[in-house]
Amino acid sequence: MTRAAPEVTRTECKRCGTQIRGVNGRYACSLCGWVNHWSEGHSRLPPGTEDADYRPGRSS
Ligand SMILES: [Zn+2]
Repeated sequence: MTRAAPEVTRTECKRCGTQIRGVNGRYACSLCGWVNHWSEGHSRLPPGTEDADYRPGRSS
């Protein structure tokens, strides 16, 4: 397996203050459900068409 290890960082949840870990600048708090905005991530998000769950014409 030659994939680069993801960058794991820690931060405080901006809602409840719990110490949480994230990958590539994306965070999600398992206690209160807070997530940071996708644009705060360190890496580009793939477009929906590259998503494994992509379905043409989905309403959401
Ligand atoms: Zn939280």
